[in-house]
Amino acid sequence: MNTLLMLQLLWDLTRLRWRDRWTRQQLEAHQAEALRRLRVYAYARSPFYQRFHQGLADRPLHELPVLTKATLMEHFDELVTDRQVRLEAVRAHLANAGAEKLFLGRYWVSSTSGSTGRPGLFLFDRSEWLAILTSFARAHDWAGLQVSLTHRMKMAAVASTNPWHMSAQVAATLRSWWMPALRLEAAEPLERLVQQLNTFQPEMLVAYASMARLLAEEQRAGRLRIAPHLVFTSSEVLTAETRRLAEEAWGHQPFNQYGATEGGGLAAECERHTGMHVMEDLALLEVVDERNRLVPPGEYGDKVLLTLFSSRTQPLIRYEVSDSLRLAEGSCPCGRPFVLIDDVQGRMEEVLRFPTATGGEVAVHPNTFHHVMDTVPSSGWQVVQEPDGLTVLLSGVREDLEDSALVERLRRDLAAQDALVPEVRVQRVAAIPRAASGKAPLIKSNLPPRGAGAGRGEGVVPGADRRLT
Ligand SMILES: [Zn+2]
Repeated sequence: MNTLLMLQLLWDLTRLRWRDRWTRQQLEAHQAEALRRLRVYAYARSPFYQRFHQGLADRPLHELPVLTKATLMEHFDELVTDRQVRLEAVRAHLANAGAEKLFLGRYWVSSTSGSTGRPGLFLFDRSEWLAILTSFARAHDWAGLQVSLTHRMKMAAVASTNPWHMSAQVAATLRSWWMPALRLEAAEPLERLVQQLNTFQPEMLVAYASMARLLAEEQRAGRLRIAPHLVFTSSEVLTAETRRLAEEAWGHQPFNQYGATEGGGLAAECERHTGMHVMEDLALLEVVDERNRLVPPGEYGDKVLLTLFSSRTQPLIRYEVSDSLRLAEGSCPCGRPFVLIDDVQGRMEEVLRFPTATGGEVAVHPNTFHHVMDTVPSSGWQVVQEPDGLTVLLSGVREDLEDSALVERLRRDLAAQDALVPEVRVQRVAAIPRAASGKAPLIKSNLPPRGAGAGRGEGVVPGADRRLT
């Protein structure tokens, strides 16, 4: 274990705790200064930003151009602030070196899975990596978990075991600290996961939301017999039904968190479960529509523009992430000054598009399906848009369910949004197919992609790489 790094982390976490009591004014002053320093650094050392922001150096943030993942990767060598870093060399490092080896002896490397286009690569030096670790530890801190060197918790994480995934990288750094930890590959058969969790008996469980739901169902059915004090979910939409099932299974509500490979932990729930507090002292999240205009609290945006205050090696200023979030209108009784995300409804890729009777097109947001499907007594579901209609997969249907009634409700709700309703079919399956990552998206489209989409934030769950155990 890297003891010095851990001690620094604990110290930073203590410092962050003070910020929970900041006023909004103190927070905004901090943000202005952190942003100023990031921009000064980027303009001094990144040839890309010198050009990208040319003539805009003294303009406010919202007037700056948006950085997509495609642009970031295309101009990688110019964008980074260390002239020794070359994309080709980073790729070679990924292909040849072990994930536990630092690039050039000083950079942690994380890769997005590239499920929507080319993978993005992100480098972090020691202090940047510390900021990432601290953001994840803070989510645990907010959930009331005592984070210390001496207090260890038996943690089980069911997530991706790709060693270049940020979660695996975080786990590797903290390996003997957050140990004893069991790291399971989410794509493994459910039966095996249940078996291993029963043997291990975790005090804390970390899982993708779809996995938490499956495990809660297993607990209900009596096959899974664990009693975690804390359950964390991330990376996917946590629907109200999944939250309810988890609470029913383990006696407490899960703590949802929101993160990205590009920026670590970005938002997390506090003990009140009123939403996820955005870690606004570490990053700015602009919730915007398709044309990059700010969307007010209470409305869903089409994407998020991320500005990461700690980024130096690869400065991230207005970096586009295709998550659709909604900020809460109210504040949290806990008194923290950070705004709340009251819902993440999924990624832009989960917005299904249907023709309308007038020859136009309507974008149907994931919530339309969540509302209907969450009432279905099943252990899992998935809505798949095919060229010839919608297929609804259902697994573990509990009570009498009239498929025709479900089809009728979906047709009605789609028609209410002016969609020309396609054929809707229900298929009962033994299990919802999971992707290679182990995730089971609630909504997916098998239609050909519409042009170049936005870069995609990669959900991350710290603590998940079996290879490193
Ligand atoms: Zn709160």
